[in-house]
Amino acid sequence: MAVQPRVPMREQNPAVRITNFMSVPLGYSSEEAVTEAKRCLQCKVPMCETGCPVRMSIKDIIKLIADEEFEKAFYLSKADNAVPAMTGRVCPQEDQCEGKCVLDKTGQPINIGKLFAFVADWARKKDILEQIPEESNGKKVAIVGAGPAGITCSVDLRKLGYEVTVFEALHMAGGVLQYGIPAFRLPRDVVDYELSYLEKIGVDIQLNKVVGQNVDFEVLKKEYDAIYLATGAGAPRFLNCEGEKLKGVYSANEFLIRVNLMKAYKFPDWDTPIICGDKVGVIGCGNVAMDAARCAKRLGAKEVSILYRRTKQCAPARAEEIHHAEEEGIIFKEMISPCRIFGNEDGWVTGIEMVKTEFKGTDKSGRPRPVNVEGSEFILEMDTIINALGTTPNRLFLSNVPELDTYSWGGIKVDDNYMSNIPGVFAGGDALSGGSTVIDAMGNGRDAAEAIDKYLNNP
Ligand SMILES: Cc1cc2nc3c(=O)[nH]c(=O)nc-3n(C[C@H](O)[C@H](O)[C@H](O)COP(=O)(O)OP(=O)(O)OC[C@H]3O[C@@H](n4cnc5c(N)ncnc54)[C@H](O)[C@@H]3O)c2cc1C
Repeated sequence: MAVQPRVPMREQNPAVRITNFMSVPLGYSSEEAVTEAKRCLQCKVPMCETGCPVRMSIKDIIKLIADEEFEKAFYLSKADNAVPAMTGRVCPQEDQCEGKCVLDKTGQPINIGKLFAFVADWARKKDILEQIPEESNGKKVAIVGAGPAGITCSVDLRKLGYEVTVFEALHMAGGVLQYGIPAFRLPRDVVDYELSYLEKIGVDIQLNKVVGQNVDFEVLKKEYDAIYLATGAGAPRFLNCEGEKLKGVYSANEFLIRVNLMKAYKFPDWDTPIICGDKVGVIGCGNVAMDAARCAKRLGAKEVSILYRRTKQCAPARAEEIHHAEEEGIIFKEMISPCRIFGNEDGWVTGIEMVKTEFKGTDKSGRPRPVNVEGSEFILEMDTIINALGTTPNRLFLSNVPELDTYSWGGIKVDDNYMSNIPGVFAGGDALSGGSTVIDAMGNGRDAAEAIDKYLNNP
């Protein structure tokens, strides 16, 4: 029997969406979701589930959607995933669940991410909530950081009856979901609603609390039975090249925090200024680079270029995001690497010197290794440069806890049970990996919750 083609996702027109920060995909209707779910072959051995770090019951959820049992589908997704509307939108499904779908061989895997976002959106509109027993088991766990790892660990522990307090440095919970990923990929009403679930099930979220600064780590150790460190990797990696300190050169973190968390795109209605010139160069080709480039376009830049030392086929950014960026007119300048940034006498950036690259061999990750082509330097005129080279773990907390074992690059060392060298202090997410994905951080959070539960029951 011929396989039906994937139900296409309706999207905002590129010419319109570069003038706003509203969601690019418009979401499935109930009819579209049911038709898409009915394409699922209901494999005996659902390979899609092996690709999911939080172990969602993908096959059964899709069957429930196909049978129009949306409420049951929602409860089943929520059993393993605290924030399905968000992961449905931002997970790299093409490398995970959808990449393992049998139909991927036809180029048309089941649109699992969009189906899960549909179910969660349906439940949000009806304000349907999972009921969690209120009783406490008398034990207290502190979680440091309210990003995907901290959120997931807090929900799983709360479901097991622990009293959970999450300490978050910023004035809003969510970590990168809130301050990094722009609203046109992750609408803020979706973020706010999914995060409000934490408080509804009794997780205590303490905002503006920086552990190691206005909250003493020693006090936490005395007051809580266990601690989970989920402080992320919010510090930028620098280019370390001449001209990096010129005005008009941003790290992607600073640029995106100003835009997303501090609503610079609503200036002057909001107080955060942002300067984004006509010609913007973004260094790097990951999700962070795509987000920065697409934000710059929406802030009115006339020409936004991705400057990348490989080709976009080797890029770490999600295929969907590269496709959306291209539709929005982002220019990809491939096989070039930055040498130095230069500016005018007032200290403002005016351009960047790049060198051409060629591939020679492969690196540790198996990707082709780019090397500079001697004498091929050239200049690109730019008035804004955004460095999206990647991130490293936040040092603010780490520098205040010298007894915690870390790698030289800042990652926290843990054993097979996610416990650090300090007994009862666990860690997870980007604080361990130095930068990964939302769902991997959530998978870490789930595993750590299990490990913390075992530790507290058999100390
Ligand atoms: C711009 C951008 C786009 C991305 N796009 C994608 C994508 O499309 N898909 C995908 O899967 N992944 C994406 N990622 C990666 C993904 O977001 C991260 O892997 C994930 O958020 C890591 O989760 P986490 O909980 O470990 O850390 P974070 O999300 O970084 O959360 C850590 C939290 O800890 C808080 N904190 C830090 N120190 C302290 C302290 N001392 N006291 C209290 N709180 C503290 C921080 O304020 C922060 O809220 C993107 C990342 C960025 C930056």
